[in-house]
Amino acid sequence: MTVRPPARASLPGAPAGGYLHGVIDLLALSPEQMARTLAEWGQPAFRARQLHAWIHERGARSVDEMSDLPRALRQHLARHATIGTLAQVTEQRSADGTLKRLYRLHDGPLIESVLMPYDDGRRTACISSQAGCAMGCVFCATGQMGLTRHLSAAEILEQAWRFHAELKARGERLSNVVLMGMGEPFHNYEAAVDAVRRIVGELGIGQRHVTISTVGLVPAIRRFAAEGLQVTLAISLHAATDQARGALLPVNRRWPIGQVLEACRAYQAATGRRVTFEWALIAGQNDAPDEAHRLGRLLRGLRCHVNLIPLNPTAGYGGAPTAQADAAAFIEILARHGVPATLRLRRGIDIDAGCGQLRDRVLAASGPSPAPDPTGAGAREARDHPDPGAPAASPPRE
Ligand code: SAH
Ligand code: SF4
Repeated sequence: MTVRPPARASLPGAPAGGYLHGVIDLLALSPEQMARTLAEWGQPAFRARQLHAWIHERGARSVDEMSDLPRALRQHLARHATIGTLAQVTEQRSADGTLKRLYRLHDGPLIESVLMPYDDGRRTACISSQAGCAMGCVFCATGQMGLTRHLSAAEILEQAWRFHAELKARGERLSNVVLMGMGEPFHNYEAAVDAVRRIVGELGIGQRHVTISTVGLVPAIRRFAAEGLQVTLAISLHAATDQARGALLPVNRRWPIGQVLEACRAYQAATGRRVTFEWALIAGQNDAPDEAHRLGRLLRGLRCHVNLIPLNPTAGYGGAPTAQADAAAFIEILARHGVPATLRLRRGIDIDAGCGQLRDRVLAASGPSPAPDPTGAGAREARDHPDPGAPAASPPRE
């Protein structure tokens, strides 16, 4: 079975061809599309390059800043174009500097983006690929809410672009982008990969500084291996036996661990990239020495890195994070198997920076959401076009 993203036309809310209510989103335009659009407006080709450079290289957030464009063109743009479509709802800054944003999509659903500054100068944006998620991983706040809709490539790009533009304005630089926010990027394959190409090509982020994290949609991993990209692939593993993984990640019943690891080897063979495995450490569930040995044996010989993250507790799951000493023992056992592992800091923990958690808190505080009812078009789309990535045994959550 192949992963077939739903036809673009069936996606509720994704602006078609960059136009929404007759206004064009300049961020939705590739350089070629921008050149075509400006040519239709009777502008010479270099104007498109200027406009593109203002937005992407210089991070201009308004046409007013574009001082070397003719006034008539600026007026036309002010009337007929926007730069992006996301509306910021809230923002929280953690004691560790992590910045968490909640955006409303033009048709209502809420998504999250996070910016993490590191002491070594890295600035990493963690962005969403879907509003909600259909994969139903039991410990994940986004999985607990179900899928509302896919994001367009422009909506994915815009999250990174906003941080890129803001950092640029204060003399800093967005250095890394991870698709680890809300949603399963490979369930929204074409938009996610298109966004990655544009993040690399137009925002100038090195391919090796972009990470796509997936729950393990095997056909999509294989397809991605053939894209000719050098981005880092991260696999959410979380358990070393099919039984244990299937209980946490229902998708494992469709694509078990052996198939996921085979696809990882194919990705490594095609790209030469080391694969990252993510493992949320859950006390008493997947943090015992035996489990570390099983994981070590499973990954032996694969050039990889294991990222261990103490579980971020969520409302819909009773598990607790592993104690520091047990995490250290887990790492030590993996090292004996020759598998490098690091314990990731739980950044932004004081501001609900676990994916899906800020949205939950804001919705709880503000009462019923003004966003479309989840029984609306987005959820219908998920129901009417059964999710190819979801397990046969358990339908996409809503
Ligand atoms: N859908 C993709 C990317 C988004 S989730 C994926 O699953 O890989 C990003 C990472 O956060 C995944 O590794 C996911 O398993 C992990 N995650 C989700 N909820 C978590 C929680 N409550 N605590 C710790 N990690 C969590
Ligand atoms: Fe979706 Fe990833 Fe959350 Fe699983 S962990 S429900 S795939 S966002």
